[in-house]
Amino acid sequence: MKKIILLFLSCILLTGCTKEEKELHIETIIEENNNYKISINYPKTNYDALDKMIDNYVTSSYQTFKKSQNNHTSLENSLELNIDYTFYQSDCIFSISLFKSENNDTEVETFNYHYKNNRFFELNDITDASMVYASASDILFKRYGNIIDIQRLHENLKTSLFSLDHENLYLYYPPYTLSSTYADTIIIDIPLSKLDIQMKNITPSFEEVYPNQINTQKVNDIIDMNQKVIAITFDDGPSSYTKEILSILKEYDAVATFFILGNKVETYRDTLKLSIENGNELGNHTYNHKWLTKLNDEEIKKQITDTQEIIESTLGYTPTLFRPSYGSINARVKKDISLDVVMWNIDTMDWKYKSVDKIVNRAVRNAEDSKIILMHETYARTKDALPKILSILKEKGFSFVTVSELKEITLLRKLNEK
Ligand code: ZN
Repeated sequence: MKKIILLFLSCILLTGCTKEEKELHIETIIEENNNYKISINYPKTNYDALDKMIDNYVTSSYQTFKKSQNNHTSLENSLELNIDYTFYQSDCIFSISLFKSENNDTEVETFNYHYKNNRFFELNDITDASMVYASASDILFKRYGNIIDIQRLHENLKTSLFSLDHENLYLYYPPYTLSSTYADTIIIDIPLSKLDIQMKNITPSFEEVYPNQINTQKVNDIIDMNQKVIAITFDDGPSSYTKEILSILKEYDAVATFFILGNKVETYRDTLKLSIENGNELGNHTYNHKWLTKLNDEEIKKQITDTQEIIESTLGYTPTLFRPSYGSINARVKKDISLDVVMWNIDTMDWKYKSVDKIVNRAVRNAEDSKIILMHETYARTKDALPKILSILKEKGFSFVTVSELKEITLLRKLNEK
């Protein structure tokens, strides 16, 4: 405890991180009986986003352990869960590692959070990660020699598990990731003096810059409930056409819903920020567009949660809508999804038809109040068709809304009928 307080004080003196410092606490859970022993210690920082992540990890570890304990009929082997932590605060960051040991299994989880800019950061945000991995590879060979499996090292050298303190950067490799025989977590410490770590490269999260602009509901305040509304949706993006699509939408006073792929989020971070800023909605369209009904339950969940997570961590935005890749869905896929599944009523078939006029025609000919139009933001022809579609529909008296706004309007109209 002494050490922690010391670090806490020194960082205030040294770093000049101006945001008001919050009081740190250590939470403790200790339980024991004849069958099991639990000892959990973890920091509570009073920064909500960070505490929530740590809490989730601790709670799920605790519950899983208790559940396995209930299923454990033999009293001969008592069970033990232990979670301990290391904690470092400096330069407006927290770097927290949790070390879990459950009987003979060990696991490390790390949380690296910039509390002034309100975001979690990765190695790439603060340094040249490839240099870090090159150093790690040298150290691993020197220290572990032939314990390390060279093939595994090449495949698994990159790790998202890292932490910092005043001396070192630590990389964590879970058991068996670098070796088929070594059953412990491998920890590599690299002196900070050998690395170029730049905390100032951690940019503020979207909420920090635009605190009031994430609410997509703002547009519907200006929509007349009796006016015809239509929701345009774009799948498979973002792409090189998205920026232009955004400015066309803006020009026609329109918003749309973009069902995006997780694996593109980081590349198009700025475009997506602009999209949100303009009042558009983002939905989850899986991580890399796999055929969902061919995947097992775990893979389906991963497609969805990985996408949610990268959108949340990159943009500070939480999608509530999901559209399955290829529109491929069945009861088994549905049960793994807590998001609202959104399909469409009007298919422009822009992936198939190369003619702009044909796409325009398919979008407008069946346009009716409350319908959802499907397009793809990955084709130049779709972008070219957009101004025509918007101007024709506008002339027909439609207002353009996001899918969530459409749902809200539908609900409000129903309530008004009663
Ligand atoms: Zn798609």
